[in-house]
Amino acid sequence: MRELFIPETKNPPAKVKDAGLIALVMEGGGAYNSKSGELILLPIGRSTLNSIAEDLGEALLETNGIQQIDCSDSDESVSSLAERYVRDHGEKALSWMLVSGRKLKLWGWAKDEEDAKMRASSAADTIRSIMERYIPDFDYLLEVSPGTVNRMVGVCRTGKGSLHEMEGLMCPGCETYFHRDSAYVYETEPVNSGCGMEDVRDVHTPGAHTIPLLCEQLGIDPSQTLKAMLYTVISPGGKKSLLFAMIRGDKNISINKLAAYIDSKFRGAVFRKAESEEIVSSFGEVAGFCGPIGVPEGVHMVADRSLVGGKNFVVGGNRPDYHRTGCCWGRDFEPDTADLLLFEESMPCPECGTPMVPVQLRKICTIECYGSEMRGESVLSCRDKDGERRWPYRWKAEVSLEALILSFYEKKEKRLRNEIFKDD
Ligand SMILES: [Zn+2]
Repeated sequence: MRELFIPETKNPPAKVKDAGLIALVMEGGGAYNSKSGELILLPIGRSTLNSIAEDLGEALLETNGIQQIDCSDSDESVSSLAERYVRDHGEKALSWMLVSGRKLKLWGWAKDEEDAKMRASSAADTIRSIMERYIPDFDYLLEVSPGTVNRMVGVCRTGKGSLHEMEGLMCPGCETYFHRDSAYVYETEPVNSGCGMEDVRDVHTPGAHTIPLLCEQLGIDPSQTLKAMLYTVISPGGKKSLLFAMIRGDKNISINKLAAYIDSKFRGAVFRKAESEEIVSSFGEVAGFCGPIGVPEGVHMVADRSLVGGKNFVVGGNRPDYHRTGCCWGRDFEPDTADLLLFEESMPCPECGTPMVPVQLRKICTIECYGSEMRGESVLSCRDKDGERRWPYRWKAEVSLEALILSFYEKKEKRLRNEIFKDD
């Protein structure tokens, strides 16, 4: 008897919301233990998962030359392989992959940042080409996160209550996905770009310690103002310093993006909102009226890119109940810049301008690249007749095969519809 056990059922599993999981169970591909949250794959589910993993592995070898191995999935094991073989085998020893615990994991080394980005994005393209066969609406989000040069998250739409879900945003106009910490890689028109530079003037704004109150008093739009947030950064040695972070008044700062910036400037530091005594001891009594002109010595300043090149901002006056108008980028302030923008519901889509709506996304894979030193990892190097060679950058990827198979079952009908449509 060589028949596969495929217990198809007409009843969906109890208390399960995940459409992929429901389809998987009803088609006899798996069983779900709702107590432990474990998905048990039955023969047909298991073989589907394996064949998708095979497809991925073959494409990554074929296109990217990534060698599939089997070992404990620890960074040390794979690093030791790269160290062992890189001197004599160069390229071939610079990238590896393995399947472990329903995950396909990839490791790669690169000679510089560009090389790392190029290798990571090439692997991402290969993964996408296979994913699109199984998950029609698969796409990547580019996100900002600490300890990375860049990071892509591969996702598709799903419903609330699904496994491997994350909160996302989608543009109903162009169907692009985003999430809170999506990288902002678009041009922004500088504020008041068509105007001349006004002089800086102090204006009395009694009680206007929030942007809505300020806008009401002066009859201006929030985008004309500058939102300032003060944080205390605590370096690994315990040294505290103030960080003055700012963004356009109609936008908000993403804490994860700020963390990524702080990590890049103050390695290993932690941060929190500054306490009022800390602000007073540096700025004096300013209570909600902090601005970028005349910031005390030793306060580190960073601005979101939305402020670059802007003119005539209304900013805090650094004394209670006063603001300043006519504050111009370059002339009056020019701090460090970073992508700090928090993506939020109903913000216009940066691709097409349609307001974004919240959606549930299923996270299928992550691909990131970084400098080994950014994470305190050792740098791969070797010596040969030409001297020392170094690969100080790395990239890593992880594909959740479990999330993949759930989406595969969830999208089965959509995939079939696409197939039929194609034949017409
Ligand atoms: Zn759009």
